[in-house]
Amino acid sequence: MNNKDLDIYVLIKQVPDTRSKAGVNPDGTIDRAKAGKMLNPFDAYALQAALNAKKMGGPNSKVTAVTMGPPPAIDILYQALEHGADNTLMLSDRRLAASDTLATSYALCQTLEYAFKQNGRPGDLIFCGLQTTDGDTAQVGPEISERLDFTQITYCEDFSISDNEVHAKKIIEGGTQLVKAQLPSLITIANSYQKLKFKTLRGAQFVQDIKRSSKEEQAKFVEIIDLDACHAEELRCGLAGSPTIVSKTWKIGVVGGNCKMHQGKSVPDLVGEVVQGLPILEEFVKI
Ligand SMILES: Cc1cc2nc3c(=O)[nH]c(=O)nc-3n(C[C@H](O)[C@H](O)[C@H](O)COP(=O)(O)OP(=O)(O)OC[C@H]3O[C@@H](n4cnc5c(N)ncnc54)[C@H](O)[C@@H]3O)c2cc1C
Repeated sequence: MNNKDLDIYVLIKQVPDTRSKAGVNPDGTIDRAKAGKMLNPFDAYALQAALNAKKMGGPNSKVTAVTMGPPPAIDILYQALEHGADNTLMLSDRRLAASDTLATSYALCQTLEYAFKQNGRPGDLIFCGLQTTDGDTAQVGPEISERLDFTQITYCEDFSISDNEVHAKKIIEGGTQLVKAQLPSLITIANSYQKLKFKTLRGAQFVQDIKRSSKEEQAKFVEIIDLDACHAEELRCGLAGSPTIVSKTWKIGVVGGNCKMHQGKSVPDLVGEVVQGLPILEEFVKI
């Protein structure tokens, strides 16, 4: 148990809703304006991790959900509040359009630095999803930890916090690894972590009250800033700040070899059919 108050941030992104057919162009690309929208499913695990981390800290620990996106992304911030986040922050600015991961991580870093300054101290923990369902690069979290010089734990399945350290179980190829890192730390949460619990009635009521309140009152829980507010350099954002060039995109057709279906009457029948003509397996089956 750690009694230090923890300032916890969770990065969440709004992505096209893969369950809705709306907004998919005939060539398979997404019309983001028309597409249904949802919280990136991977970020739901990160949000639960942030809420769990809050319970491991002192009584004044708090969770701030942060997003970068166009105005409709405000919906996922309200969602985070319904689940128990204490407040939220959104970076929204037309000059961010066409940002690649380098520009995105820069802009999100500036947003986090802004929040640290407002809070009077740097954060202790930043949680990210493993990846998004639209960009899918899994680069934004690690890039932010490098920029902020936070320790970094990726693919985290479970963790605890004590004595200014985070102890974590992370996925590695072929197994798991137990690691510890000093706070401040950035952790990307795997989707084998706990599922996001249902929103609480209290949280839902709280959001209803905020939505009905004045703009000033709303801004206490859902703060929206632009590039100027967080002192982000325009040339490091959007297209100008994105060295990635997408030279061509194309639709991947159905790929597959010839396939023969077997329908034996019994398992031995089926095995016999499958191994027929494969001498090594025929021998094996005889034995
Ligand atoms: C050349 C190029 C042009 C692009 N143009 C556009 C465009 O015009 N419009 C557009 O919408 N996308 C665009 N993208 C995609 C966009 O750059 C990525 O979606 C974005 O950089 C985030 O990367 P990702 O989705 O792969 O995140 P990942 O690295 O897979 O995400 C890991 C985690 O980082 C956090 N995270 C990532 N992004 C955000 C965010 N915005 N806010 C809060 N947390 C976040 C989340 O916790 C997430 O789970 C473009 C990409 C490229 C390469």
